[in-house]
Amino acid sequence: MSKRKIAKAMVQSHLYTVAPDFVSNCHRDGTKIEMNPEFRAVCHDILAKQGYSNPGTRNCIMNEAWRDLGIQKTRDSFRKKTYNFEDCILYPALNNFPLTLDQARLVASMTADLIFINRPEVVIEDNKRNGLSISIARDGKQVILSPNMMNICTLCHELSHIYLQQNGDENTGHTAKFMAIQIVLLARFCEDSFDRLLQLCKEHNAPIDEEFACNLNQVTPEL
Ligand SMILES: [Zn+2]
Repeated sequence: MSKRKIAKAMVQSHLYTVAPDFVSNCHRDGTKIEMNPEFRAVCHDILAKQGYSNPGTRNCIMNEAWRDLGIQKTRDSFRKKTYNFEDCILYPALNNFPLTLDQARLVASMTADLIFINRPEVVIEDNKRNGLSISIARDGKQVILSPNMMNICTLCHELSHIYLQQNGDENTGHTAKFMAIQIVLLARFCEDSFDRLLQLCKEHNAPIDEEFACNLNQVTPEL
């Protein structure tokens, strides 16, 4: 077990000891919980004794500990970074061709077979977040494409979320694993080189799980 895992386990067991009812009755709905200051102070103490002298790191470990227990939602911490990388670097470097709904459905089915997931439904719907059109991957079952985002890159992006959702990943947001799946799909459907896309991610410090990407790329047959 790593030093950090041990430290996390220590604050978790402290929480179980002082507040067993809280842990078992807590609504695991992903709302950020507020721990009382005395309790936090003790946790800081525990972590400091484990050699974590930086309070920021200690907070980080505590948040991870609560997330692991399922009482605090995993933050989609790479979302902004991923969007920036996609919009400014990755998608412009690709042949991002437009799709009709029928084509999108065909690609979704082909992708599902390629990466061993259940075929999702694809629909067009105009959804907005903060006034901007968005596409959505819902419950591992449905890809909802915005009418003005009918293109291969958007579809591959949403299908990567579907993969994580179907495989029961705790974090189905824009993780390093998410990007790994995405570049495997983009390499296939944009007829680009997987190695080139991997290189692009690394050059621009985009979060990517390189090992997962290479493994998935290897087991995924050519189109
Ligand atoms: Zn996304």
